[in-house]
Amino acid sequence: MKKKGDSICSNNHCPTKNSAVPETMDEFLEQQALRERMSKIRHKILVMSGKGGVGKSTIAVNMAISLALSNAKVGLLDIDIHGPSIPRLLGIEAYKPSPTSVSLEPVRYAFAHRVMKVMSIGFLLPNRDDAVIWRGPMKMGVIKQFLKDVEWGDLDFLVIDSPPGTGDEPLSICQLIEGLDGAIIVTTPQELSLLDVRKSIKFCRQLKLPVLGVIENMSGMVCPKCGEEIDIFTTGGGKKMASEMSVPFLGSIPFDPFVVKTGDDGKPFIYHYSNTETSKAFQEIIEPILALKDESVPVEKPGKEGNMVKIALPIADGRLCMHFGHCERFAIIEVEGEKIMGTNYLNPPPHEPGVLPKWLNEQGVNMIIAGGMGHRAQEFFQQYGITVVVGAPALEPEEIVKQYLAGTLVTSENICDH
Ligand code: ADP
Repeated sequence: MKKKGDSICSNNHCPTKNSAVPETMDEFLEQQALRERMSKIRHKILVMSGKGGVGKSTIAVNMAISLALSNAKVGLLDIDIHGPSIPRLLGIEAYKPSPTSVSLEPVRYAFAHRVMKVMSIGFLLPNRDDAVIWRGPMKMGVIKQFLKDVEWGDLDFLVIDSPPGTGDEPLSICQLIEGLDGAIIVTTPQELSLLDVRKSIKFCRQLKLPVLGVIENMSGMVCPKCGEEIDIFTTGGGKKMASEMSVPFLGSIPFDPFVVKTGDDGKPFIYHYSNTETSKAFQEIIEPILALKDESVPVEKPGKEGNMVKIALPIADGRLCMHFGHCERFAIIEVEGEKIMGTNYLNPPPHEPGVLPKWLNEQGVNMIIAGGMGHRAQEFFQQYGITVVVGAPALEPEEIVKQYLAGTLVTSENICDH
């Protein structure tokens, strides 16, 4: 079997390149549990910045509060493992998430008759001054747990505050969440900060993550005495850069001393100073995000209850067919735990683009093991939440599944037949 982290397709331009192939049944079930948890959250938004200190966490908090005030069901996840600041910004540092035997209850932040679910590594550290020294795979592990094991329930939005830069944490989020809506990138107007934002935009492009927009924070200053706006630095750099890089510009937030004060006091600005110009600016920038709420979401697929898994294999002459599109029929093998429970043979409907993913989804199939499959087809299956393993040898279907369950299946390169 391929090494951990191997991608589904060897083609560098293939959108499934970043998806890790589950190596064992346990990994596969873990992937299914993560998908199931994430399928209940309609929109997942990553908040990024090129540099630290530009107000990214402040914007993530105020955006989440603003969405919740608009009656959306919101969760806020802090994946800044080295500098979690969400608990401090909400004044809930002393709170602890409650563990159950199988999951973790997030902290419930109650305000204005609403409840926002919050999770941060900050809740789990014994001392707030403790430093976390973790390498990439450990960070990926904890982020996966935050997504998969936290009882997020049904949410309209999950706002994810990532650390500055383009390191392990945002990369893990992009690899773990299949239906991420996109990233919001926060910058300040200075050229130094804008330089780093360009890197963040390129990072999103490389990972095919849509950039939902750029926000220019601390753009001009609100005078604490008269409330009028003064330009202390140059402004407008964020807007110009967004236009140059062809990404949407969501708006500017002025430098407001009350934003600092409310942050230090652990009180979200947008709720406590709702009638100010700065607050209006926050509300304006969330409008395009709020509009996502009305967009349709894919219907959850059937046949995923319990641990029963259906694996489909394309067959010709009783063995795995090397060319997915040319198979005579499909073996659908039902697996529970590590046991094969039964095999059905089904004839597929006449060949037409897009017909097989829909049909296999209707059969309750969760996984396909194939010889070769083009990356477009893999992308279609991913949209239906069906995992694809390619490069399997031309053996009898039950033998392939037995080897897969035992972790001994040896796969070779995908023969992408387009
Ligand atoms: P980051 O997450 O980018 O490291 P933070 O959100 O922690 O940045 O903000 C850094 C500091 O800047 C905090 O003290 C915060 O209160 C302050 N800050 C953020 N946005 C504004 C603003 N619009 N006006 C004034 N201070 C701000």
